[in-house]
This record gives sequence, C-alpha cells and structure tokens, in this order.
Amino acid sequence: MSDQHADPNAAPHQARHFETLAIHAGQEPDAATGAVVPPIHQSSTFKQDGVGGLRGGYEYSRSANPTRTALEENLAALEGGRRGLAFASGLAAEDCLLRTLLVPGDHVVIPGDAYGGTFRLFAKVAERWGVEWDVADSADPAAVRAALRPRTKAVWVETPSNPLLGIADIAALAGVAREGGARLVVDNTFASPYLQQPLALGADVVVHSTTKYMGGHSDVVGGALVTADESLGEELAFHQNAMGAIAGPFDSWLVMRGVKTLAVRMDRHCANAARIAGMLEAHPKVARVYYPGLESHPGHEVAAKQMRGFGGMVSFRVAGGEEAAVAVCDRAELFTLGESLGGVESLIEHPGRMTHASAAGSALEVPGDLVRLSVGIEAVDDLLADLTRALG
Ligand code: PLP
Repeated sequence: MSDQHADPNAAPHQARHFETLAIHAGQEPDAATGAVVPPIHQSSTFKQDGVGGLRGGYEYSRSANPTRTALEENLAALEGGRRGLAFASGLAAEDCLLRTLLVPGDHVVIPGDAYGGTFRLFAKVAERWGVEWDVADSADPAAVRAALRPRTKAVWVETPSNPLLGIADIAALAGVAREGGARLVVDNTFASPYLQQPLALGADVVVHSTTKYMGGHSDVVGGALVTADESLGEELAFHQNAMGAIAGPFDSWLVMRGVKTLAVRMDRHCANAARIAGMLEAHPKVARVYYPGLESHPGHEVAAKQMRGFGGMVSFRVAGGEEAAVAVCDRAELFTLGESLGGVESLIEHPGRMTHASAAGSALEVPGDLVRLSVGIEAVDDLLADLTRALG
C-alpha cells in the first residue's frame, strides 16, 4: 500500500510524518503561559488597541478564533493542503463548499452511493436554488466523464462511500474533472487523512465530517474543508465568515484532541474491521460483505493503491432479507445501535431506515437487507462474539 505521508521535498517542518503532525501541527505551546495544549479561547470578541489595532490578528470569533485556527492549521497539514477550514458540522462544510463553487444553472456530478444527508443537500436544498445534478457511479471514470456537462463545476465523490464502501480512483477522477473544467471534491470522512490523502492524488478539495474518525470519541459534531489552492481557500474562508456556520472553540478543541490519536486508532480500526469482514464473508447467514480490504471487493486494487489501510467501516447484506437485517441490529449488544461512525466504540445500524432514509426512492436508495458496522477499537474477540450471537 502507498505511503504518501512523508514528502522528502517539503520544507523541514512539513517533512514530518503524519503521526507527528497530528500532535504538533498548529499546536505550538501557548505563547502567554507555556500550556502544552492549546487553550480553549471561549471568547466572542477581542480587545483592540485603538480602532483597528488588533493584537493577535483576531477581532471577532465568527471571522477567526485562535482555537479554531489551531485546528484549521492542523487539518491543512494532515491533508497536505494549504488552507483548512473548520465548520459546525460536515453538512455545514458541504453547504459552504457548494455555495462557493456553484451558482444557479451550474451542474454537479454526484456519486451513486453517498451519505443520505449529502444527497438531501443536493436534491432538496441546492436544487431549489437552481443547482443541477446528475448521479454517476464514482467507481467508473467513464460514467463520470459521460455525466459531465458544459456547466459542470464539480465532481463530488466519497471514497470509501457510505454505506456501500465503494471505491473511486481519485487520480483517475481528478483527470476526468480537470478535462471537463470541473473541480474534484473528495469526501474523506471514511478514510481519514491517515489512510488517504486525496489532495496528493489530484483532488481540489477534501471534505470531512470531523464528527467521525477525526473527533473519534462520539462527543462532537463538526466538519472541515481543506484545499491546496490558495485562491480557492480565500474564497472558502470568505464564505465561511459570510455564512457563519463555524466550529466553536470547544468543539474545535475536542476535534484537535481526537486527531492526536488518529493514527493509532485507525490502525486498530483497520485490524478489527478486517477480522470482522473475514468472519462475515464466511458466515452462512450473510449474503454479501462490502469491505475494500477483501480481495472479493471490486475496488480492492484501487483501494490498495491509494490507501494506507482499508478503514473501520464494514457493511453486509443479511441472507434473510430486511426484517432479518433489522433483527441483527436489534440483537447486537456490544455493537450499539445508533447512527454515526468513527468513534472508539462499535456501532451498528440499518442504513435504509436510519442514516439513508432520506435517499429512499432515489438512485441512491440502499438495499433493505443492508447492515452497516462502524467497527470500534474494543478487543476484536468480544466484537466477533457479539456479532456471531446477533446473526443467530
Ligand atoms: N459525509 C459523510 C461520509 C458522512 O457519513 C456524514 C455524516 O454521517 C457527513 C458527511 C455529514 O456530516 P455531519 O453529520 O457532521 O454533518
């Protein structure tokens, strides 16, 4: 698998490895006190030394806040970008991005599998403002190329996708988007920058729900955008301030604290998920398993090329159909029944009735017999025992 994470040509501080950047980028000890952990600057405004005399460059916390800046610098470093921006949620980040990139009459190609809320944002919100969209299978660059129109401004992909763990070839799609005069947006929530760095593969913007692996402890809702394009970064920052859906200081601090352990958590998520996917693949009550680490997965080779590991998300279809899938969710105990993902604790859910209910009846509708697991970092034998019992 690739190791895109230490760039030998970068400036010395940028040449540091991912694990080091996660702990130190944007997080110098506090200049005033020496505090090793960046303080939570829970202040809406900043004293000015005379009108316009800003002490540290800060004036009002919607525009910028030192705790949020620390997180934003950290995110930019981890994704290998130049500008990171932190938002109140993943969807707030997506909304800011689409209103920065698109005006009425513009067109966007969206994936055939994606988080239901992302689909809802395009189908139920952006469309009302005159943004047009078509669905194309992100695993098929030719299909994405065929969906481009003269006014296509963005190709939007999730890889791995939610909930079917589809894999898009980021480098190939970057070429397709570039030829079509569009920008490639990659939602990197499922992989995290530890496993995959879309900007290095040619993407223009990375989207995150930091609620998930970045926060990592199911205690914060947040979102982020990262780009290597400074002028796009400026436009995004303008819209972030003008629209106002920023991450607050405490939420920024929680995400930063989570990110410090991202690498070690992801290693365990990957190892546990691989064991569980293997068990499910051999289980008589499981009809199909979706995990990019399995050789049977159609995107396995692309995933191996562009990811450091295959992640902690596993979906599977239950042989007995929808009611049997719901029953598995209900019987699980250690896997907590709940939406969201990416925390240290394992979660189980029924996408058709829960996270993806908003895609019902659309091209993004998910199978009724599908169960999605967010495999946590508990002892894998306990997780295997719980699932085996839940499958009955
Ligand atoms: N992108 C993906 C892949 C997601 O799974 C989610 C939420 O589940 C989002 C974006 C939206 O993020 P948030 O819930 O933080 O608004």
